[in-house]
Amino acid sequence: MIPYGRQDICESDIDAVIDVLKSDFLTQGPRVPDFEKSVATKVGASHAVAVNSATSALHIACLALGLKPGDRLWTSPISFVASANCGLYCGAIVDFVDIDPETYNMSPVALEKKLQAAEADGTLPKVVVPVDMCGQSADLREIRALADRYGFKILEDASHAIGARYDGHYVGDGRYADITVFSFHPVKIITTAEGGLAVTNDKDLAQTMSLLSSHGITRDPALMTGEKDGAWYYQQIELGFNYRMTEMQAALGISQMARLDDYVARRAALAERYDRLLEGLPLRRPRQMEATASSWHLYIIQLHDASQHNSVFDSLRDAGVGVNLHYIPIHRQPYYQRLGFSAGDFPAAEDYYTRAISIPLFPTMTEDQQDYIVSRLRGLLTGARA
Ligand SMILES: *Cc1c(COP(=O)(O)O)cnc(C)c1O
Repeated sequence: MIPYGRQDICESDIDAVIDVLKSDFLTQGPRVPDFEKSVATKVGASHAVAVNSATSALHIACLALGLKPGDRLWTSPISFVASANCGLYCGAIVDFVDIDPETYNMSPVALEKKLQAAEADGTLPKVVVPVDMCGQSADLREIRALADRYGFKILEDASHAIGARYDGHYVGDGRYADITVFSFHPVKIITTAEGGLAVTNDKDLAQTMSLLSSHGITRDPALMTGEKDGAWYYQQIELGFNYRMTEMQAALGISQMARLDDYVARRAALAERYDRLLEGLPLRRPRQMEATASSWHLYIIQLHDASQHNSVFDSLRDAGVGVNLHYIPIHRQPYYQRLGFSAGDFPAAEDYYTRAISIPLFPTMTEDQQDYIVSRLRGLLTGARA
């Protein structure tokens, strides 16, 4: 089976992890701060906080942004459930903003409409979580303008988008978002096995997230109440968690970061090739906005004929093509249905779900594999012989 995504681990990655295993620190050593610096420097952010997953990063980011019980968080229904769950962890009320069917990202038009209605009945969100779907930045310039007008914070879920650019700058540089979160799960652009990281240009947000990632404990006298009892002293000043990244993960991350631009370039070349090869087939290819340069975590097509969705999907799997579907609209999950969401709430997202297929894309995929995938798809959609 050709997988839809897969990590690339080379000898230098393996050596970097082995070095850590032979060193004094398996956790809370020098590699995690080095990894944080490496990502912050690369994307042009002032601060980075590495943790054990993007899910954890989203959680502590929401807390740092002051999301409290009864507050509102809005995100895109076409995302992984973690984009919404982070709001529920904080006791907030989660709601969704429908997508733009061409980019699969949160629609700024739908967002503005919903904000106008919310302003009228006093239900404005405190945090909005735009998702950089597939690695293409959400329309953050528009969303920033709305944030300034309606007073919400932007927590950008860039789990797909490390190495992507917006307006020529790396995603995560903080010119539009208050906090940006990356994921390093093995299917993503670079990996630390499990792992996530939040970047921000706000020193206080970074400090709060850092505290929350490790029990709310500090050894910094400047943050303590009163004097230190002695050299051993630390204080718990917030209710935090153990969300720490290990040294092995950080070493792998540092090693992978060296190849970030190569990975993105290879993914972009394969995506461009898909664009060419799929031209003329009865499907919609992912539209790219002018301001964006995607990191191409995913290449998602939408079939014109939704009635073929299941059969095309199954036939591709039968042919050894590991297609997938990103994502089941979050509000259609049973847990969210129990919270009161219904079918029909976000029609663009639901229509997308009846047509979308993620076809394989990863940096070590060969052109032969890609040709095979396209010929199978062509055969299924046009009856041509594969
Ligand atoms: C992968 C992913 C997450 C969660 O990342 P983890 O590191 O696995 O916790 C969150 N949001 C989106 C959009 C993702 O793709």
